[in-house]
Amino acid sequence: MKILVIEDEKRITSFIRKGLQYESYTVDIAYDGNVGYEKARDTSFDLIVLDLMLPGMSGIEICRKIRDEGLTTPVIMLTAKDSVDDKVKGLDAGADDYLVKPFAFKELLARVRSLLRRGDSVKNTVLKVGNLELDPSSREVKRNGKEVELSRKEYSLLEYMMRNSNQVLTRTMIAEHVWDYDFDSFTNTIDVYIRYLRKKVDEGEENRLIKTVRGVGYKICDK
Ligand code: CA
Repeated sequence: MKILVIEDEKRITSFIRKGLQYESYTVDIAYDGNVGYEKARDTSFDLIVLDLMLPGMSGIEICRKIRDEGLTTPVIMLTAKDSVDDKVKGLDAGADDYLVKPFAFKELLARVRSLLRRGDSVKNTVLKVGNLELDPSSREVKRNGKEVELSRKEYSLLEYMMRNSNQVLTRTMIAEHVWDYDFDSFTNTIDVYIRYLRKKVDEGEENRLIKTVRGVGYKICDK
């Protein structure tokens, strides 16, 4: 389990790091909001401990941005004062929990464990559409029990579609969730990846799962 701590107070990061490492978590630290945001965006973490007041981007901004980009990593917000405003802002921005400084390490650990448990059951449930299965914990995809090999992007695209099965997904939605670029230059790329996916997932099958919704986008469904 990998945890990102974004916090500029060295005394606190060192105490959190030691404690979490002792509990066998892997810990990465960012002392600055901008660096923290980039790490959160570019590396996959199981949980983020996020301070509210940071140099560079604030904790609220970071949280809002990563949620806008579709990242569901659980976030525990650290607030300096017991202010209702700060808690509400944090939770509004998409934090899952908050902790008021100073806190006992035991308390942080309890919340980390509880969020990781919650995340596990949501994140790691095997997704199914018809006889297509995707296991987020092993990243294995099977059609009709037979393994399908996908590239990283193909996998991300399929996972996003299967998490939102039976819903029409516009190209803008797909671009925002699966790619980090703006949409305009992008519509072709999505179509190309859909074609790759179809080839691997649907070709030769009687029941084609990936559907084109003309003029709108795509959806995956078993009908
Ligand atoms: Ca701070």
